[in-house]
Amino acid sequence: MSLNGINERIAKTCEQFGRDVADVQLIAVSKVQPNARVADVLAQGHRLYGENKVQEAVGKWPDFRDEFADVNVHLIGPLQTNKARQAMELFDAIHSVDRPKLAGTLARLAQEVGACPDLFVQVNTGEEPQKAGVLPSDADAFVAEARALDLPVKGLMCIPPVDEEPALHFALLRKIAERNGLAGLSMGMSSDFETAIQLGATHIRVGSAIFGERDYS
Ligand SMILES: *Cc1c(COP(=O)(O)O)cnc(C)c1O
Repeated sequence: MSLNGINERIAKTCEQFGRDVADVQLIAVSKVQPNARVADVLAQGHRLYGENKVQEAVGKWPDFRDEFADVNVHLIGPLQTNKARQAMELFDAIHSVDRPKLAGTLARLAQEVGACPDLFVQVNTGEEPQKAGVLPSDADAFVAEARALDLPVKGLMCIPPVDEEPALHFALLRKIAERNGLAGLSMGMSSDFETAIQLGATHIRVGSAIFGERDYS
């Protein structure tokens, strides 16, 4: 696949399900990818990227930002509170807000700095013990808590269990977002972004289908 190929599939899916393409943002997930591949996608004009580690993003994006001032980078992986300040400086949005301690730290830093990236609350829709995110039953209370801290909560994010039908999880995330008056839905990856668009995704996170397989060796 390629950036063009993915954009074509997004357009086709939007048309099929009555979505406006302007309402679906493609986050090109550049984690682990060699800089040459990222530079290639930047050269094609794409300006929205996703990283899952603060440290990796620190080593990569400041230089690209010097070259491409209008680039946006979102954090889509877990955030430790001791990296919160760095994350707030580096990212335009954080998709992994998932616990009161982190919300408290982000709120304190937002007051101090006078700015805050857009935030998404991660929901562990599959209730998997090893996975980050608030439980679906705790989501309403956590969103309320984050809002009470004046945090700019824009939406919800989920990563469905690998062995389950993603549509069920996307539908659950959408239901929780709707009852909390949240417009943003960060859901869908290389293997299921079309289903996510059908079910209302506003932010799809696509890595390997754009850049090729990640080489962890
Ligand atoms: C790596 C990652 C993706 C992209 O996965 P692909 O299968 O390569 O599209 C999406 N979301 C999160 C949270 C990720 O960590």
